[in-house]
Formats: sequence, C-alpha cells, structure tokens
Amino acid sequence: MAVPKHKTSKSKRDMRRSHQSLEAPSLSTCKECDEVKLPHHACPKCGHYKGKKVIEGKED
Ligand SMILES: [Zn+2]
Repeated sequence: MAVPKHKTSKSKRDMRRSHQSLEAPSLSTCKECDEVKLPHHACPKCGHYKGKKVIEGKED
C-alpha cells in the first residue's frame, strides 16, 4: 500500500479543509401558511405543495 513520504503541513492540511465548511440549507416559505419549509418539499405544517394539499391529517 502506498504510504505518504512526508507529513502534510498544517498549511496544506488547512488549505484542503477550506472547502469542507457546511452551507446553510436553502429555505423557502409555504404559499398557504407562510411557514418556512424546504424547497421542493410539501409544507410540514399544513401539508400543501404547489397550491394543493398533498398530505392529509395536517391542519388547514
Ligand atoms: Zn404550509
């Protein structure tokens, strides 16, 4: 198995990790109840998606 010849310096290690930060998930709001929700997902509060109710048993 290949083994690295030299220890990666703190500088090189940190340069590699500069791309690893997490991004905040994008958010959209429900047209029915104005609740914050994930885009392309039914609203978890009222169960609406694209103006139609797609999950039964939710309020509204
Ligand atoms: Zn909603």
